[in-house]
Amino acid sequence: MHIIDLSREIHHRAPAHPSHPPVIITVWNDHSEVKRAGNTEFTSKSLSITMSDHSCTHVDAPVHFNPAPGAPSIDEVPLENFYTEAICLDFGDVPNNYEATVEDMEAALAASGEEIKPGDTVMIHMGIHNRLFGTPEYVHDFPGLSVEAVHWLADKKITMFGVETVSPAPEGEPNYLAHLACAERGITHMECLMNLDQLIGKGRFRFAGFPLKIKGGTASPIRAVAIFED
Ligand SMILES: [Zn+2]
Repeated sequence: MHIIDLSREIHHRAPAHPSHPPVIITVWNDHSEVKRAGNTEFTSKSLSITMSDHSCTHVDAPVHFNPAPGAPSIDEVPLENFYTEAICLDFGDVPNNYEATVEDMEAALAASGEEIKPGDTVMIHMGIHNRLFGTPEYVHDFPGLSVEAVHWLADKKITMFGVETVSPAPEGEPNYLAHLACAERGITHMECLMNLDQLIGKGRFRFAGFPLKIKGGTASPIRAVAIFED
C-alpha cells in the first residue's frame, strides 16, 4: 500500500479565500519554560491556532451553502462520505478564469479510461496548485467548473468532488452558482487540494479525508489522501 498526501500545509498566514479569516499560529508554550512538579522538572511545547473552518485543504458542509433548515453541518455528515472510491480527471493546464464545460468533463473522463460510479469522489486536476499557489491569482483568477459541469457530476451520483482551487468555480457568480448547484443536488466538494498531478493515469483509488467533529461546523480542514493497494 502507498498513500499520496493531497493536503496543503496548515501554516501561519497560509493563503486564504478572501471571504474567510487567515490562519494564525502562535507558540503557546515552549521548551524554554521549565515547569516543576515535586522534584521533577519538565518542559513541553504546544501551539495556539486560530483559523476559519474553511482553512487550507477542507471540505464544505451543506449548511455552508444551503440555507434550508436542517441542512447538515460537518459533524452531521455521514463518515462514509469521507472514505470512498475515487478517480481523478485531468484537464491539463487550464487558463485562468476558465469554466470547464460538460464537453470538457466528458473528454477528461474518456481520457482517464475510467468510469464514474455512484458514490465516487471525483478529483479535478487543473494544474493550479503547482502553477498558482502563492500568487495573487491563486485566490482570484483560478479556473474551475461551469455550473453545468457540477450538474453533470451530480447526475453521475457522486458523493463529492475536489478541486485544487479555493472555490469549485471561478470567482464571483460562477462560484455562487456552483455552490448553489451542490445544495440543490445534495453533493459537496473539497477545496485547496494539492498533488492531484500524482493521481493522473493511476486509475481508481481509495479516498480518505475525515473532517474534524466541529459542532455546527460549516466546513472542516481534512487530511485528504489517496490510498493505493499495491
Ligand atoms: Zn466551497
